[in-house]
Amino acid sequence: RDKLVIMDETAIRRGLTRIAHEIVEKNKGIGDSIMIGIRTRGIYFARRIAERIKDIEGVPVPVGELDITSYRDDRVRANAGSDVQTLRAPDIQDKRVILCDDVLYTGRTVRAAMDALIHLGRPRMIQLAVLVDRGHRELPIRPDYVGKNVPTSKLEQIEVKLQEADGCDEVVITQQ
Ligand code: 5GP
Ligand code: MG
Repeated sequence: RDKLVIMDETAIRRGLTRIAHEIVEKNKGIGDSIMIGIRTRGIYFARRIAERIKDIEGVPVPVGELDITSYRDDRVRANAGSDVQTLRAPDIQDKRVILCDDVLYTGRTVRAAMDALIHLGRPRMIQLAVLVDRGHRELPIRPDYVGKNVPTSKLEQIEVKLQEADGCDEVVITQQ
């Protein structure tokens, strides 16, 4: 199994800082915005960007959490009746929602996340930030903010390690 480090701690830190600046610039501020992280590492990613934005703009940005595991349209549901989208967030009505995830691949998770958000309120706008875009989209979805574009083969896997969950910051590409 080959392993190649494509982002180290410094690269991740710089990528996050750049994305925070891009978000503030593109939106001409951060008012009426909320970051929503997709389960596990997307949530840490969202929290870190929010911290950077607070440093830049001096205002706190709310961070919510979305678990869309059961919402994927390509997974067989054991029990459709128990299908739940878990959103823990302040009201998203009329807010600018910045969805955050660690890796963007086919786009199906993001599509499901957008479904869940629109189902729960009417955000003014949804933008997408990802740490790694590995390509192979199967839906017309593109990120607004990208830490690193990493062209991959379908046999490769991106391993995202973040301090909060893994004890270190590192993005590794592995070949099966
Ligand atoms: P998609 O739904 O776009 O096919 O896949 C994106 C979701 O699956 C993200 O939540 C992401 O965490 C996970 N994912 C897909 N491919 C990879 C990968 O190569 N590495 C990691 N760490 N996660 C992936
Ligand atoms: Mg994920």
